[in-house]
Formats: sequence, C-alpha cells, structure tokens
Amino acid sequence: MNKGALLYEGKGKKLFFTEDENLLISEFKDDLTAFNAEKRGNEAGKGALNCKISTQLFKLLEKHGIKTHLVKTLDDTHQLVKKVKIIPIEVVVRNIATGSLSKRLGMKEGTILPFTLVEFYYKDDALGDPILNDEHCLMLGLVKSESDLEELKRLGREINSIMKSFFSDRKLKLVDFKVEFGIDTEGNILLSDEISPDSCRFWDMDTNEKLDKDRFRQGLGDVKVAYEEVLKRILSH
Ligand code: UDP
Repeated sequence: MNKGALLYEGKGKKLFFTEDENLLISEFKDDLTAFNAEKRGNEAGKGALNCKISTQLFKLLEKHGIKTHLVKTLDDTHQLVKKVKIIPIEVVVRNIATGSLSKRLGMKEGTILPFTLVEFYYKDDALGDPILNDEHCLMLGLVKSESDLEELKRLGREINSIMKSFFSDRKLKLVDFKVEFGIDTEGNILLSDEISPDSCRFWDMDTNEKLDKDRFRQGLGDVKVAYEEVLKRILSH
C-alpha cells in the first residue's frame, strides 16, 4: 500500500490517502506539544514508540471485542487504518484526579476517584478544547442522538476496564486517558486515533513516577526512556 496525498496533519500524526478509498496511512510523528501547543518539542524515536505502543493496545482491545480502525502496522512509524469520519469529541476517562480535573474542581492530585469518570471535550483547538455536557454535544450536532453519547461512555468505560487491569498486571497505574472515535462507511463506531503515553497518564505502581507526556510538559526529562519503559512493560508477558 503506497502513501498518497496528505489528508491531514495533527499534533502527533499525519494521515495520507492510499489507492484504496476506504483506507488511510497514519504516520506517527516525533513531535511533542503541551498545553495546546504553547510548548513544542521533538523527541527522536517517539513516533516509532507510540506506533508500537498504540498497535499493541489496539490489538489488546480488539481481542476484547472493541472495534478499532487499525488494519495493520506497515513499518516502525506507519499503520494502515480504515477511513472514518472522526466524531469531534475527545472522550476522557479518569481513575485518579490530576491535570485539568484537579485544577477545575480543586481536587488534590492523586485522589482515587470513587468511580470511573467519563468526560467529553470539544475537539477544537481554536476554542481550547472546552469541556462539554451531553446537551452541548447534541446542541452542536456532534453526534446524532443521545444513544450515541451513551455508547461513547460505555466504550470509554469498557476500554478503561480492559486497560486498567492490563497495566495493573505490569505495575503501572492507568491514571487517565483520552480516546477518539470515528464512524466508518457502514455507520459503525470505531476506536480511532491512537492510545499512547501522549494520550494517557501512566504512573509507576510503587513510586508514582510519571511515565508519559507529563515528563515533557513538566520538564522532568527522560521522555524517551519513559516511553521505552511503557513499551517494555506492555511486551513483558
Ligand atoms: N489528553 C489528550 N489530548 C488533549 C487533552 C487531554 O490526550 O488534547 C489526555 C491527557 O494526556 C490525559 C487526559 O487526556 O491523559 C486528561 O487530560 P486533562 O484534561 O487532565 O488535561 P491536561 O492536564 O492534560 O491538559
């Protein structure tokens, strides 16, 4: 499968057309951004690590019945994926308070949440990805119906339960993560985009050491070492 014209370039990936109108090639970039791209960086090899990590996690989720856009990995930094229409809602799932949740609601960082929290954010950089409630989503026509929103919440929780237990076996706490979904030509909701330390927070089970994008954002260093450690643990058994 050959790369055609560039369809879209995001913060972490580029998407290319292919000779098959239903398939795209996704290229994982080395770029890192933080706080709506105010701070930019580049970590050689990060794209390849994210591509491997995301492939492993999508395969894990497929094994547990979650439908995804992944067709196959082509090489170190490229995946062949099904073309979908992305739903412009970032589905954030949280187990432990930190980040914008702590800031917005004054919750102490590290507080274990009494239940899995699912939030929606509007995928719109110009607006700074504002938080949305169900009625906002319906008002803006981001989904067709309330049942689509219920399905996004159900999928978010299901993905969380599969990944939380997978990472717990590998001595990592899954603190929170963001996922995106798309609609394929047959109307199915498919998990799309990526799942990686760019879009998840992972803390070491014993030391609470951060092994994700926050290392870059908080200037903790060793970003690539942390991503390599996540991949190593994913592949460990
Ligand atoms: N997240 C993401 N992309 C975004 C915003 C958030 O991947 O544009 C992820 C982030 O990595 C974290 C979770 O969603 O795992 C919750 O992020 P939060 O709302 O706390 O915002 P942040 O503190 O990252 O700005």
